[in-house]
Amino acid sequence: MTTKVFGEGISRVGIREITPNIFWICHCVGKGAAEFNGGFAADFAKINPNFDPEANDIIYSSYLFLDEKTFMIDTLAPAQHETVLQALDSLLQGRKLDYLWISHTELPHAANTVAIRRAHPELELLTVGGHDHYEVHGLEDAKLLNYGDKIDLGEHTVEIIKPLFVDHALTQWIYEHNSGFMCPVDWALNAHNEHQCFHFMDEMAKTGYSSERFMHDISITNCVVFPWLRWADPDQVVAMIDAFYKSYDIRIFCA
Ligand SMILES: [Zn+2]
Repeated sequence: MTTKVFGEGISRVGIREITPNIFWICHCVGKGAAEFNGGFAADFAKINPNFDPEANDIIYSSYLFLDEKTFMIDTLAPAQHETVLQALDSLLQGRKLDYLWISHTELPHAANTVAIRRAHPELELLTVGGHDHYEVHGLEDAKLLNYGDKIDLGEHTVEIIKPLFVDHALTQWIYEHNSGFMCPVDWALNAHNEHQCFHFMDEMAKTGYSSERFMHDISITNCVVFPWLRWADPDQVVAMIDAFYKSYDIRIFCA
């Protein structure tokens, strides 16, 4: 596992290659995560004993496609204001950023939109149309997309897709047809312990993680992130998820 790391603690950002052209730009706190995050894992484990009581670290993710066009997904949070730019520079190696796509206007995803744009003034900013208050988030002149719109990057074609679970304003998900890359943003997020920083999920298996644990993680984090699910019909939700999985050939799952 090769991870290049910038900064430490709340500013810490690591970069990892997923494929030769797709990169994960990831923040997690690492050492001291339990203290920083208030030791939430022990409380979650009281509610669901399948939750790892040591999994006090959470990730914020951005992704970068290096194709004929370069395409960035999300911007990380205010505390990674400097380090996300360092990580981006390190990956671009002098290339310009062509597109910045914002999944939704929540600070851990959209906070550095203006900073990244300042560093790459020619980039085209992309988000979903049909809403209000774009200017509040630095998206006042973003190109507004519809669900189903595709952007050709060269080898890769990303498609803006309708989210099953709506988070903050402007929520949209994204799928890439060549690699099978799917980013459902904050749905299906999981926590990790100090031995699992910057690990892909199959690597986490070496430290006790499993697909069953992931299912429990989704269940409990959905209770926190999407509390309105309490009023949803579980059979309907499950049927929607099953239909969603049938609609896309998902080979790289990036929450
Ligand atoms: Zn970590």
